[in-house]
Amino acid sequence: MKAFAYSANPSRVVFGAGTLDEVRAEVERLGGTRVLLLASERLTDRARRALGPLPVAEFADAAMHTPVEVTARALAVLREHDTDCLMAVGGGSAIGLSKALAVRTGLPQVVVPTTYAGSEVTPVLGETEDGRKTTRSDPAILPETVVYDVDLTVDMPLDLTVTSAVNALAHGVEALYAPQANPITDGLALDAVTRIGRALRRVVADPSDVDTRADLLLGAWLAGTCLGAVGMGLHHKLCHTLGGAFGLPHARTHTVVLPHAMAYNASAVPAVMAGIADALGVPDAPSGVFDLIAATGVPTALRELGLAADELPHAVELATSSAYPNPREVTADGVADLLDEAWHGRRPAKAS
Ligand code: NAD
Repeated sequence: MKAFAYSANPSRVVFGAGTLDEVRAEVERLGGTRVLLLASERLTDRARRALGPLPVAEFADAAMHTPVEVTARALAVLREHDTDCLMAVGGGSAIGLSKALAVRTGLPQVVVPTTYAGSEVTPVLGETEDGRKTTRSDPAILPETVVYDVDLTVDMPLDLTVTSAVNALAHGVEALYAPQANPITDGLALDAVTRIGRALRRVVADPSDVDTRADLLLGAWLAGTCLGAVGMGLHHKLCHTLGGAFGLPHARTHTVVLPHAMAYNASAVPAVMAGIADALGVPDAPSGVFDLIAATGVPTALRELGLAADELPHAVELATSSAYPNPREVTADGVADLLDEAWHGRRPAKAS
């Protein structure tokens, strides 16, 4: 028997198709009467229609990694219009901005995720200032209400679909070998891996199939719940390093690195890898994940994302400069080999 502690993050979740129409009621449920709408131009009209008379201001400039200068501009809009509720519609960037505003003002949030990043169900916020990213966790950051609308995801471009889904898959995978892993997160993570694996096989042929999209969005929620409940390991550390220090794109970096981080850890957690392989219906988890990704046609090598070979030693140095939990000891030589494989995009060998 393994003893454990589990803290649930309290949020109300509305899941379905066409649920954007319910946001007005959800805002009113939280007592909101004057909404600051955070949405890209692509979604502003639909969100505005759904909110009726509630929006009093809009801000469309959310950016990846939540730069503090963007937050300062949005904060000025928020104060100028005396808003009492935040509503974000978009990916992790729009939701990150909502969280950054909520932790500064205490305002409630209704968020509508349109990618699979999972930020909507975590009390975690990463912000960048002067090129440095810092992360904090605070219950005030967690959105009160999450509205998942499958309809908003059916026309997501294939590249974003696959890479964002692998971002979610990575939350599930690393949750399964986290030190705080427990029966609740194990169940959520394995269900997420199953749904995302089967949906990745189907989405290329029929990107607008609602059941496939529902699997991806539900998988993203479950995996994001794991991300908010347990600590992540080497894979996430590498992706944050590559994103923060070298400007590599968040979801694409997760997609390239995941099979190699799994191969690195496979010998330390064979039972976890067997469970993932079983959930995905493949003989071996790391190479199975690689094949699943490669079959969709998205980039599988760090060199394709714009990382120069001579930047790899600095990436190794940064990724090994502090200690963090990982099932297999993190060594400079080991990470150098891992990043070399990922840079070339080689298929991981089956663990012996
Ligand atoms: P993103 O929000 O930056 O979106 C990427 C691009 O896709 C944007 O141009 C966006 O407008 C567009 N887009 C979003 N949804 C779309 C859709 N359905 N169809 C077409 N285009 C769409 O990217 P992301 O990967 O969702 O989020 C990345 C950010 O989220 C990073 O800053 C990352 O650090 C953060 N994040 C935070 C957490 C957390 O728990 N704090 C978790 C995951 C990600």
